[in-house]
Amino acid sequence: MNRKAALGACRVAGYHDDTRSFVRAYVENRISYTSAKTEWNRGAQMKKAGVVCDCFFCKRAAHQTKPTTMSMDYIRKTYDVPAKRGGRIKYTNGGTFYGTIASAKGGYLRVRWDEGGQRLVSLHPTWCVEYVGAQV
Ligand SMILES: [Zn+2]
Repeated sequence: MNRKAALGACRVAGYHDDTRSFVRAYVENRISYTSAKTEWNRGAQMKKAGVVCDCFFCKRAAHQTKPTTMSMDYIRKTYDVPAKRGGRIKYTNGGTFYGTIASAKGGYLRVRWDEGGQRLVSLHPTWCVEYVGAQV
């Protein structure tokens, strides 16, 4: 581990309040306690400020959970609707159609019609859509 990587490890350790990794990073890499501690504090401040951690584990975790939950969450908050995966919707536009929310993508719901096979359609969360049996 070079000096830069060691300091980075101290910062990540500070972010996670991980004393053991911190001590290991600075002892094994012979960086000064002062610089190590400065990085630790920077990491702790990042966490406090709500900055997303960029360490390997957090990045991997974010990558695994983001795609569906993030965008569904985004839709719920932005449009104040009870959208959720598996939720039922009624769509009234040129007829009445029923479907089930499969996922969310780019601010739109991905819906599978009851009578449309496996194909998914994108619907705007508030355009002609009613959330059947859901509570706001
Ligand atoms: Zn992290």
